[in-house]
Amino acid sequence: MRGGLGGSVANRQGSVHGPQEGTDGRLNREFHALTEVAKTLASPLELPALLDAVLKRIVDVVGQADVGTVMLWDQSAGLFRPGASYGFDLEAMKELALRAGESITGKVHDAGQARLLCTPEEVAAAMADMRPFNRDVFARSVRSDSLPRAVLATPIAAQEKKYGVLVLETLNASEAFTQDDLPFIQTLADLIALAIDRHYLEAQLSSLRDARRTEYLRAEVMAILSHELRIPLSAIKGYSTALQLDEVDWSKAKQQEFLGLIENECDNMQVMLTEILDSSLIEVEQLNLALEPVRLHQVAADAAQEAQRRTQNHHIVVDLPMDFPIVAVDRRWIAQVFRNIIENAVHYSPEGGLIVIHGEIRPADVVISIADEGIGISPEDQIPIFEKYFRVHAATGFHVGGTGLGLPIARAIVEAHGGRIWIDSKLGEGSTVFFSLPKSPVAPDEKNPIEDRTAEAAEARGGEA
Ligand code: ADP
Repeated sequence: MRGGLGGSVANRQGSVHGPQEGTDGRLNREFHALTEVAKTLASPLELPALLDAVLKRIVDVVGQADVGTVMLWDQSAGLFRPGASYGFDLEAMKELALRAGESITGKVHDAGQARLLCTPEEVAAAMADMRPFNRDVFARSVRSDSLPRAVLATPIAAQEKKYGVLVLETLNASEAFTQDDLPFIQTLADLIALAIDRHYLEAQLSSLRDARRTEYLRAEVMAILSHELRIPLSAIKGYSTALQLDEVDWSKAKQQEFLGLIENECDNMQVMLTEILDSSLIEVEQLNLALEPVRLHQVAADAAQEAQRRTQNHHIVVDLPMDFPIVAVDRRWIAQVFRNIIENAVHYSPEGGLIVIHGEIRPADVVISIADEGIGISPEDQIPIFEKYFRVHAATGFHVGGTGLGLPIARAIVEAHGGRIWIDSKLGEGSTVFFSLPKSPVAPDEKNPIEDRTAEAAEARGGEA
């Protein structure tokens, strides 16, 4: 603690900034302090770190105070909580939770006016209504049952918005602050308010930007989608009309070919519609996971087989080690992740090629990768690739229908399982999408209960697994 509870604290009576300090001296000191605080406020720190740094600066430059805190009003909780503290035991101080009107902070906030409490008696009177819980927190924060001996508290407000209160206290010296200090400390509090204001504005602006971007992309995708769905629909209509023409006697092979094409187009439509449905489910947070022990070999093989059925140009290989751990996942949703990524690997490798589904075992998790030899993605386009509705607008010379929802859905599912998803890609060479899934939690010397259960079940079924 700065100065320490029993240490010598510079104060007005004690001389450093005492009454004998001339007007020039005071102005110089205040100017220096303002410059220092303004410099700190201009630093590109996030709000909590910024408040900490500013408060430390204020307590240092103001000189008379031993400890300080920025109490912020939390509207949703209906409480003041420390946004920053200096000189206190920080762990203890974090627990402070003052109600509206409680103690010095509550009163200064209500009145909207700075308050100077010069003597221990004045301080004690203003803190008399502090609830026992907070009194205990305060005592632990200053490691003493004594109350502060002098307090200067100023509202932190900007343009009608009341953010909280800046409180500076002395623990050893009374009459450390005077009326002359008020305008200067209020100026510092106003600077803090401006910093908070700026922070909130920036946060609002960024969420507005995100909302507008999402809305713009959503509108765009809806327009594209109605168009995209019309393409397979027209094809289906065309082939089925042709098959029904009385005047043409289609050969068996031709009929098979048309039926195959119709099936393909139906699959494409199904993928798009599933993605839209899944994305709306994820949006309203209906992603309730039903975890069960799952052997990913089977899920990967099913998804690969389903995709392989629709392409002859690609060769899809599943390469998971035999000892790949069984993981606790929601089988349906994880199958959807495999489908979305494999679907992309096929779509975005128009020349065909190898698609390899690989598995890696790491200490805490498993990583699945799905690699293709397709068109790849430039580094700039890899950044927003998991954002909703994002699609690469590249001059690839070929058209692929899509919603820009496949990867965001995969991400939402993987993250809901406690995993991560990422991509590694080279334009013109191919892409690999990776996702991790946590291994089931097992104590070091415990056997995997999920594996045990699965082994038992397999035994009951006759040895498979
Ligand atoms: P969709 O494929 O329906 O457009 P996704 O969210 O699955 O939506 O993918 C977003 C975009 O990322 C795609 O439009 C495509 O441009 C790019 N992309 C995804 N996977 C690959 C891949 N394996 N290779 C190249 N580009 C890909």
